[in-house]
Parts: sequence; structure tokens; C-alpha cells
Amino acid sequence: MSRVYNFSAGPAVLPEEVLKEAADEMLDYNGTGMSVMEMSHRSKAYEEIINTAEKDIRELMNIPDNYKVLFLQGGASSQFAMIPMNLMKNKVADFIITGQWAKKAYKEACIYGKANILASSEDKIFTYIPDCSDLPVSEDADYVYICENNTIYGTKYKTLPNTKGKTLVADVSSCFLSEPVDVTKYGIIYGGVQKNVGPAGVTIVIIREDLITEDTLPGTPTMFKYKIHADNKSLYNTPPAYGIYICGKVFKWLKAMGGLSVMKEKNEKKAKILYDYLDQSKLFTGTVVKEDRSIMNVPFVTGNADLDAKFVKEAKAAGFENLKGHRTVGGMRASIYNAMPEEGVVKLVEFMKKFEMENLK
Ligand SMILES: *Cc1c(COP(=O)(O)O)cnc(C)c1O
Repeated sequence: MSRVYNFSAGPAVLPEEVLKEAADEMLDYNGTGMSVMEMSHRSKAYEEIINTAEKDIRELMNIPDNYKVLFLQGGASSQFAMIPMNLMKNKVADFIITGQWAKKAYKEACIYGKANILASSEDKIFTYIPDCSDLPVSEDADYVYICENNTIYGTKYKTLPNTKGKTLVADVSSCFLSEPVDVTKYGIIYGGVQKNVGPAGVTIVIIREDLITEDTLPGTPTMFKYKIHADNKSLYNTPPAYGIYICGKVFKWLKAMGGLSVMKEKNEKKAKILYDYLDQSKLFTGTVVKEDRSIMNVPFVTGNADLDAKFVKEAKAAGFENLKGHRTVGGMRASIYNAMPEEGVVKLVEFMKKFEMENLK
């Protein structure tokens, strides 16, 4: 068996310890004589799995009691509809557009009400985060929506926008559990877990209780009501049971590592190794303004598409997978999520240095 260094933006690298544990438990989970995949979601064994997962994420993120944690399906993309269906009481929502994911959420919200764009960084291909200190927040906005870490473009909000008292809703798919957050600053924090937490198929929604009401937009499907999932502790219907089990293992792994402040230090250290190299390289350049750089997704280019392609190809042959940039951006992108070891980044930089020597004219 040999594992590569997987820099995929998602689905992405998971901790090896977690994968090994899951492999050990594949045929017989904890003396039940069956795999978690084969288990009733109403069984005692599964109840303990999901309850422990919730308890552990609450502890990791220091989630206050007046927030629910929901384990849902449909990916982050389903939330683009579920959020307006549940929150648009006045049918008004404000958006800050910092990339494709925020834009998609905005477009979806336009189906349900009046969606306003407060600010956008599209003028410079989303290479920065707009100044959000004094935005023209709508008087009657039900919420202000952001995508906190922009997976494709490699930007991250370093300070949250001033929403002037309005509820903040954040898509944190690609920075989930990468650092401590103050949950109380948000109405909803949500993400698909396949970037930094677990296998595709689970969407975690952390939502303040007062936002969970019967009063959804007319026509909202039952499965799209937060209340039904909150009232049934994420067991209204069959949840993505195996995926939640793996997330639970990742939570345990994070706790054993020392929690989110330790993860933040580790992630900052990894990102610094890569950015420091990029900042002095004569071949490669980072594409994002320094102040807004993500510590999870690091896009870079050589400025020559053929050379970019050559780099991706040679990197792959050397065991560095999925470094090709998003199809809409080109160039390269290294996603260096929680489970990417520092050694992977160090070795990538060594490889980049060698490539630079060989290819710099
Ligand atoms: C990947 C991603 C999405 C889309 O997630 P799906 O689970 O595929 O719907 C949305 N937002 C962000 C920030 C992402 O990185």
C-alpha cells in the first residue's frame, strides 16, 4: 500500500488514523457483528454514535446550548435553497459575493425573494475580500450571507462583516474546524463536510434556535424545514449514517490533537511554509492579496499555462495529487486541510523548488 499526498479541494484527505480505525471496525463495529453501514439508524449502537458525534463537535466548537447541530444531506448546495426557505420572513436577504459559491447561493435566493448584493470582489476575479466594515445592509434584511473561506479562489475573511445587527449566515465548507470560531456571532454556520471534516454526503448545520420556526416559505418541502430535523435530532428520516460515524471519528481525532486552537497553529504553520516559498519564488506566484489569504486553499500560477500543466503532471508522477487549479481559474491549487501533514507541504515545497530550478529561464 502506498498513499499519495492528496491536495484535493474536496472530497479531500482524511486523517490516516481515522481511516485505519474505520477499516478495523468495518466488519464488526464494537461487538455488534455488523458494519455501521448495515446498522439501523434507530439502534442503540447508532444512537450512541450520533449522540457522541454531536457532543464532540459541540465541545470542539464551544457551541452554546441555544444552537442546534443538524446532520443533514444534500450538500452545501441544498442549503442555498434551505436557508432562504426557512429564514426569508421579509423575503429580503443581503449577499457578499466573494466567489462562485456565494454567487450560487445568491442566485438560488433570488428564486425565493429579493436578494441584494452588498459587495463583490468579482471585479478582480475574486482575489480579495471586500471591505465589509460599513456595508449598506438592508433595513429589512432577514440575514446577511457570506462564504467565509473561498475554496476556489483561496481567500478568507479575517474579520467578519459588520452586519449592523442582522443575522449572519456563513458557508464554512472549506474552513470547518480549521480554527476556533465564536459561534455566537452567527445565526447559521454550515458546510458540506467533504472538504475538511469527513466523507461527502453529510452537511452540518449549526443554527441558533430562534431561527428554527414553523414559519417557512409556502411550498417548502418537509425535508427542507430545519424544524423537522431539529425536533427529530437529525433522525426524521435515515441520516447519512456512515458519513456521520466517520465525522465523529474525525472529531475525536481533533480532540486528541488538542482541539481547534492547536489545529489553527498547525494550519498556519503549514500555510506559512507554502506562502513564504511563493513570496520569494521567481517562477510561482500566489494569486490572492496577502491580507486575505486562506490557510486552507492556496492557489498559485507560473503565468504560463503550458508550464502549469507540466508542473501538475510532474507533481502527480512524484506523488503529489490533485494540484490542478479549479477549471474556472486555471493554474494550481494546493488544498492543505487539517489532515494534510506538515511533511506533505514541506515535500511539496521541495518539489516546487526543484521544478523552479529546472524550468526558470
Ligand atoms: C464545495 C463547496 C460547496 C458545494 O458543496 P456541495 O456539498 O458539493 O454542495 C459550497 N460551498 C463551498 C465553500 C464549497 O467549498
